[in-house]
Amino acid sequence: MKKHNFSAGPCVLPQEVFLKASEAIMDFNESGLSLIEISHRSKDFVEVMEKARSLALELLGLEGKGYSALFLQGGASMQFLMTAYNLLENKAGYLNTGTWSEKAIKEAKMFGDIMEVGSSKDENFNYIPKGYAIPEGLDYLHLTSNNTIFGTQIKKFPKTNVPLVCDMSSDIFSRQLDFTQFDLIYAGAQKNMGPAGTTLVVVKDDILGKVSRKIPSMLDYQVHISKDSMFNTPPVFAVYTSMLTLEWLKDLGGIAAIEEINEKKAQLLYSEIDLNPVFQGFAKKEDRSNMNATFNLADDRLKETFDALWKEAGINGINGHRSVGGYRASMYNALSLESVGVLVDVMSEMERKG
Ligand SMILES: *Cc1c(COP(=O)(O)O)cnc(C)c1O
Repeated sequence: MKKHNFSAGPCVLPQEVFLKASEAIMDFNESGLSLIEISHRSKDFVEVMEKARSLALELLGLEGKGYSALFLQGGASMQFLMTAYNLLENKAGYLNTGTWSEKAIKEAKMFGDIMEVGSSKDENFNYIPKGYAIPEGLDYLHLTSNNTIFGTQIKKFPKTNVPLVCDMSSDIFSRQLDFTQFDLIYAGAQKNMGPAGTTLVVVKDDILGKVSRKIPSMLDYQVHISKDSMFNTPPVFAVYTSMLTLEWLKDLGGIAAIEEINEKKAQLLYSEIDLNPVFQGFAKKEDRSNMNATFNLADDRLKETFDALWKEAGINGINGHRSVGGYRASMYNALSLESVGVLVDVMSEMERKG
């Protein structure tokens, strides 16, 4: 039986995407060949790459607005250094909202001065800093829109003239935003878009080419753009499966439609966390994430009972990250409202038992 998969990543994908992806492994487009044995320069695969890139821009509302979409390798972690390599000449600002921001800061420090404009480290990253000053003259400001580990999410982005770079690995395509406010967005596929192995980068063309250092080809966005994201062999399976997920999202009604469902899922779970005395939320209410809900048991002695109950209900992947402990339920796009209902039922059963 299919599990209710709340894993933080790699994540649940739509069942029909799994089906189509597995068919393509056996016989791609009735060609008598597998997707993973054909040339990436073949017409069939070039079409996949073009479709994936254009769907990404279309869904974000960025088509024809001077942006390019790339499907690169190396994960979001590679983007921690690639963004700085391509954009950091002197000084950049970073908002430190957790583990992933800290890793981005560590890499960027190798390329220039890094200023932490704000940090929520003082409270183990359970909130999003607000009201911080953004100095003029920064090469860019780097934000992490959704903090996968701590379960916080930026609801309001700063208004600034400084170019915005945003790690959207765990909430891209989950909610409507004015994406034109960002100059560079990156997202590892495996949180909300596809399998591991590719990273979506959406970059405004006119912010590139401004740093004085030489950039190795594989790390140069302009090289990848000039080669239509095919500078070298792309991760064909990850790109194809991401394309299928983006098609699924478009057919569903795009980001507006999924946002509504994501709101319902989050409301259902958070109202249980708030009302059920057996559980306590981790993230501050106004900043909590619609993608990753972090919570704890009020009494740790109930752990064994709770763990047995959710496992029995066919739930997978709600153990918290080791740096937070407790539980984390990730509710990415493909997780159904019904699955959240199953978790909530288990939580209310805990209350009856307690
Ligand atoms: C998972 C994650 C990363 C790291 O992604 P990789 O693809 O494993 O390098 C970076 N940022 C955020 C917000 C994440 O959730």
